[in-house]
Amino acid sequence: MNIQPLLIIAAAILVATFCAPGPVLADRIVIAHRGASGYLPEHSLAAKAAAHAMGADYIEQDLVMTRDDRIVVLHDLHLDRVTDVAAVFPARRRPDGRYYVIDFDLAELKQLRLTEGVKRVEDRETAIYPRRFPPWLSTFRISTLEEEIELIQGMNHSTGKTVGIYPEIKAPWFHRHAGKDISPAVLTILKRYGYTRRDDRIYLQCFDPRALRRLRTELLPAMGMDLKLVQLIAETRWGLTLVMEDGQAVPYDYDWMKRPAAMAEIARYADGVGPWMNMLVNPDSLPGQPQISDLAAAAQAAGLAVHPYTFRLDSGRIPPYAADFEDLLSIFFFQVGVDGVFTDFPDRAVRFLQSHPQRR
Ligand code: CA
Repeated sequence: MNIQPLLIIAAAILVATFCAPGPVLADRIVIAHRGASGYLPEHSLAAKAAAHAMGADYIEQDLVMTRDDRIVVLHDLHLDRVTDVAAVFPARRRPDGRYYVIDFDLAELKQLRLTEGVKRVEDRETAIYPRRFPPWLSTFRISTLEEEIELIQGMNHSTGKTVGIYPEIKAPWFHRHAGKDISPAVLTILKRYGYTRRDDRIYLQCFDPRALRRLRTELLPAMGMDLKLVQLIAETRWGLTLVMEDGQAVPYDYDWMKRPAAMAEIARYADGVGPWMNMLVNPDSLPGQPQISDLAAAAQAAGLAVHPYTFRLDSGRIPPYAADFEDLLSIFFFQVGVDGVFTDFPDRAVRFLQSHPQRR
């Protein structure tokens, strides 16, 4: 039998596959939110190692600056929720009752125990997520950005994987108010560890559009760097980003980001957006009938990747319109069409995508 016709048919199929009209979907990605934080204390190196082993594509770092200008991986500007700071440094409490990362040197922070998140009502302390890793069990420590990058790059070397990093600069306005410029300090570390180009395995995220514009137009070019930037989108009422107006600190108004022309504007300085999941699907949607907003489609039409937050399978965290965690992922990946998800349970999202390879 002459195999030439078969080869021609095979070649034709290949050509048709690669030249088919329509958008080519990039790989969907799983971002381990604060590490595999559904299983181990958020931002512990253990949670990061677990996320790497679970097959996450990117691992997230929230970044805050210390008094001695080091960059540590912590979600909050305060230490209260995830450390024993009140027991170790009781006198360092501010008048508002909180302990601030920025009031401590790295050597002091290294003395603290890091724990799964706790909340205190009067003198009673309880786990925020009762089904997760128990508070105060075992021993975990706060890490610097350098320590965490070395863990991920070391595991990339030992496993042959290319897991990326997804750092978030927390509250540049707060650091600036304390006399610190966190953005260039973060870039210096990223550059030292080889993250300098748009196609490197990194997304740099921030809630503050002013900080992102400054990164794109000033700081990155000045350092000979060009990284992918992600505009996180908050609800104005959360008060995550503050601006000074008439001498008063007021919440930055995010409402413009929900208007039709906003995505084209964001695409001038960013490569992706990180919206709250409820901005993409109405949380009051009926079961099986997700009401999908225009935001994801508008972002993608402007060339932006869409990485919503945060997918959790704890009790009460799956919206009523989804039957379960996998159904929720299915709605977001295949009906909304997102490019990636932030999740505390990266193993479940990785397994979900692996079980739908033809759509990944
Ligand atoms: Ca974050």
